[in-house]
Amino acid sequence: MTARIIDGLAVAKRLRQEVAAHAADMKERQGGIIPGLAVILVGDNPASQVYVRNKARVCEEVGFRSYSHSLPSMTSEAELLDLINDLNENPQVNGILVQLPLPEHISERTIIGAIDPIKDVDGFHPVNVGRQTSGLMSLAPCTPSGCMILLREVLADLSGLKALVIGRSNIVGKPMAMMLLQDNCTVTIAHSHTRDLPYECQQADILVTALGRPGFVKGEWIKPGAVVIDVGINRVTDAATGKSKLLGDVDFAAACEVAGAITPVPGGVGPMTIACLMQNTLQATMMQNGWW
Ligand code: NAP
Repeated sequence: MTARIIDGLAVAKRLRQEVAAHAADMKERQGGIIPGLAVILVGDNPASQVYVRNKARVCEEVGFRSYSHSLPSMTSEAELLDLINDLNENPQVNGILVQLPLPEHISERTIIGAIDPIKDVDGFHPVNVGRQTSGLMSLAPCTPSGCMILLREVLADLSGLKALVIGRSNIVGKPMAMMLLQDNCTVTIAHSHTRDLPYECQQADILVTALGRPGFVKGEWIKPGAVVIDVGINRVTDAATGKSKLLGDVDFAAACEVAGAITPVPGGVGPMTIACLMQNTLQATMMQNGWW
């Protein structure tokens, strides 16, 4: 079997266009309201700087206002909390995102907990996590939301399918499992203590990998015809060329021989995350104006 490649770039572009159309409609019909996203970066992590620049670029593309706050790495937790309080109060700011990881002297838990849940476009605030787990309307984490959209591209109905999520982080693995459960999958979560990972993989109609280990999941672990969503983004050096490249958590070439459909890395889940961030910012704006 040669797997269908799920084109995350194309699906993300379509989603951004839908968000842009909604935003334009809202601006015209609702007295000029324009969604605003504030992104806070503390420190000078080069990867984080790229992510923050991309978010500002996509905000512009979909017609949102973007507010970038770049703070020095020695910023205190109290100073960051003051900024978040200001943004919570600012009616032009509908979404607040704090780029992770934060410097070690700042508690991520405290900072995430300080964001007004209705502006928590990352969906990491305990209120949003609790609402999502309870099946209530919430702002949901962007990466698993993007994975669900990609799954629905190739599966008309997820009901009753066996899904395995490898990884149990708060930002990917746990919310991913919850979303699959809400779509009536029978869900297993694997982690570093899982006893027989190849066996667990072989049972899965849907396999979501979020470990952060390049090429870890082998082709022979995959159930023939399974849908594979590879969340991993691992920067490695190509032995032949000496150049750096991105790899997923799955041995892509081998998996393509077995899977029914698979996301590539890059060009799979990555572009969906930022498109879903825009969707969340639009949703947050609508919620704040009582239209959701
Ligand atoms: P994380 O917080 O480091 O969590 C990794 C998870 O993988 C942990 O739950 C860990 O288990 C599990 N794990 C590690 N080694 C394992 C093994 N040998 N067998 C089974 N499970 C194992 O990572 P994350 O933040 O969730 O990110 C995971 C990957 O997704 C990374 O490559 C990251 O770059 C990527 N990512 C991509 C996007 C995107 O937009 N595409 C967004 C976020 C993250 P324990 O809990 O037992 O330690």
